[in-house]
Amino acid sequence: MSSVSRFADLGLADPLLRALSDSGYESPTPIQTQAIPRILEGRDLLAAAQTGTGKTAGFTVPILQLLSTRAAARPGPGRPRCLVLTPTRELAAQVHESVETYGKHLSLRATSVFGGVNINPQFRALRGQIDIVVATPGRLLDHVGQKTVDLSSIEILVLDEADRMLDMGFINDIRRILKLLPATRQSLLFSATFSDDIRRLADGMLNDPVRVEVAARNTAPELVRQHVHLVETHQKRDLLSHLIKENRWQQVLVFTRTKHGANKLAEKLSRDGIPAAAIHGNKTQAARTKALHQFKSGRIPVLVATDIAARGLDIDQLPQVVNFELPHVPEDYVHRIGRTGRAGTSGAALSLVDGEELRLLSGIERLIRRPIERIQTEGFVAPSRPANDSPRNPRPSGARPGNGARKGPPRGSPSKGPRPGGRRQGQGRSGASRGNRV
Ligand code: AMP
Repeated sequence: MSSVSRFADLGLADPLLRALSDSGYESPTPIQTQAIPRILEGRDLLAAAQTGTGKTAGFTVPILQLLSTRAAARPGPGRPRCLVLTPTRELAAQVHESVETYGKHLSLRATSVFGGVNINPQFRALRGQIDIVVATPGRLLDHVGQKTVDLSSIEILVLDEADRMLDMGFINDIRRILKLLPATRQSLLFSATFSDDIRRLADGMLNDPVRVEVAARNTAPELVRQHVHLVETHQKRDLLSHLIKENRWQQVLVFTRTKHGANKLAEKLSRDGIPAAAIHGNKTQAARTKALHQFKSGRIPVLVATDIAARGLDIDQLPQVVNFELPHVPEDYVHRIGRTGRAGTSGAALSLVDGEELRLLSGIERLIRRPIERIQTEGFVAPSRPANDSPRNPRPSGARPGNGARKGPPRGSPSKGPRPGGRRQGQGRSGASRGNRV
């Protein structure tokens, strides 16, 4: 890997260097060091990089530079020159925001189009001169069908979180969109994982791509202090309330497996005096945006989300993630905890694991190739069938063994056990917002 450590050495022009410096970035992340010069050369790119690596700036910044140097070639209203496809509305909104942030000293125009919101403002935006469209596939095809966007002048295509797009069933939409683009174009594909489907898609859409790989998919957790709390299912909600209060967590993203579970948990926490909101696919876009905003601005300390809703959420320096239930797919654990410990900052992830989930836990530990430390809280009993729990797993010094249904004082009594995430849990809002990209 190159040892370039300054943005100025990557071939970026002054307006972009200023915007990066305005954002407070001192040096490029590894994906930026590798990707920016190659994108500026006009090469196609196949990038293995997950959220949290700085990949968004890694592609938006060089694209802005390429488009601004070729601005004379603007094709006219409704005919964008760059298309970024994302799996979710939230990610589309966030990529759009990044384009605005890094492009603030340029005069390029960007817009985002995604479903779940009124289409009319999107019509209006597309009627003007537009350089960059950030879109989810379904809504983009609606616009194509209504002839409000013409993709025949696309110079650069980006598929962001391509694996997620395939997981969400967008493959046919993507193929339809590819057919609408000029054959001669620059294409960039970002994906955290590389299944056969992704490889096939990449083979079909990329031309002699440069491959860049940063942070193998289980590297992000290196930055994250991970703990497991074994607990009976019926005690999970009380335990979470207890831990949030006890550790004075100010900003915690909690994952549940189901939408219903997310709602019930948010209601329970609110009843316990801990303001919480749930975001999931059944909520309107307005409700999701509001909840995210309240969470990012620090007005509500807890956001409960399902995996799909949380995909692509860009919450910078999130200090704490809780897996209220473990995901069925071990890779999703890595994605979830990648919400914290981003771009070099440290974070903590705690998983509440009941007896039914011990098998899932073993799968996760196999994937990340290490055991996760167990912790325990007085008054909360470990599941009664922990025999499957691997004896190899070390426990934090001073921690009580996590197995055995030890009866303790009533739940909610002050914990004398070690705190999840070590000594930095009561860190207040030290890891909180930087601008509005929290
Ligand atoms: P991403 O992987 O694109 O989701 O970016 C993760 C986070 O890292 C975002 O919140 C960015 O604002 C932040 N970030 C991106 N590039 C840098 C950089 N060079 N230095 C510090 N933070 C960065």
